[in-house]
Amino acid sequence: MKPNDNLVDIRALSKYFGGGKHPVRAVDDVSFSIRRGETLGLVGESGSGKSTIGRLLTRLVDPTAGQMFYDDQGSGAALDLATLSQAQYRPLRSRIQIIFQDPYASLNPRMRIRQVLAEALDTHGLAKGAARLPRIHALLEQVGLRPEHAERFPHEFSGGQRQRIGIARALAVEPRFIVADEPLSALDVSIQAQVVNLLGELKDQLGLTILFISHDLDVVEYLCDRVVVLYLGRVMEIAPTDALYAQPRHPYTQALLAAAPIPDPTQRRTIALLQGDLPSPANPPSGCVFRTRCPHAIAECASTEAVLREVQPDHWNACWRTDIHYSK
Ligand code: ADP
Ligand code: MG
Repeated sequence: MKPNDNLVDIRALSKYFGGGKHPVRAVDDVSFSIRRGETLGLVGESGSGKSTIGRLLTRLVDPTAGQMFYDDQGSGAALDLATLSQAQYRPLRSRIQIIFQDPYASLNPRMRIRQVLAEALDTHGLAKGAARLPRIHALLEQVGLRPEHAERFPHEFSGGQRQRIGIARALAVEPRFIVADEPLSALDVSIQAQVVNLLGELKDQLGLTILFISHDLDVVEYLCDRVVVLYLGRVMEIAPTDALYAQPRHPYTQALLAAAPIPDPTQRRTIALLQGDLPSPANPPSGCVFRTRCPHAIAECASTEAVLREVQPDHWNACWRTDIHYSK
């Protein structure tokens, strides 16, 4: 078998909610990979399916169709996370962790931080007996907190510190892959940068791979190696971060970047809802799903399926029209 540069290979992944004739197509035939050691950004308007992809990878929800190959040995012998039972997935929970937007909601208010971290260690039988407390103290220091914080309760921390605790809890089980679902959204802008820097440092120190879900275009530009752009459960564009921001190829990506406020040191560029109604994911447009809001759409876009094509090395675009020259 040949070595595998991809930690994760998502192939034709779909998640439909509800049955009947018009299920909600939260994720619809999505394919992309996450390379070993990279931070991959996942962006798109609210409702585009970002969180659902994170929840599929961590099997908090089960896929409707498709594959999610995972290979943290680099041997080429990937496991398909999509087909594992919950019992088969359990050992992977120590290798794949998810960090959420609101760390407070997931911390038991009656547990000291020492107990929160001990619980995480216990789930996977790690750092038992005399090794326990030193490991907990080391975890706190790793995320920029102090050993004495172990004895405190969640309400005694600021929002930024709680997100650090959430990160420490994720790291407790020594994961290889972290899904971070809008981990900064609940934090004050002034402390977001500290948490972003912490994630970047931990990634380098621990050799982590991160799927970074965000609607903050500035943070994604700063932190991510590559970016996947989602719209209505489908991938519109995939590119290295520099290329995507310098020369977005898909009209949707262009609209997102154009709609973001002009750079202003006191403001952040975040994804705003674009003009025009967002179609329902239960009843998506035919052909290219973005055509109803696309300034370049022509009649054929209703009948021509949008397929990702490599338009430059490593830069993939799902707009089938090659006859229009995009400009920013
Ligand atoms: P994002 O994270 O990009 O905002 P989500 O993945 O949360 O998007 O949601 C994608 C779509 O799936 C939305 O239309 C949302 O309403 C729908 N959805 C998400 N979870 C559920 C669920 N459990 N049941 C029904 N619909 C859902
Ligand atoms: Mg979300």
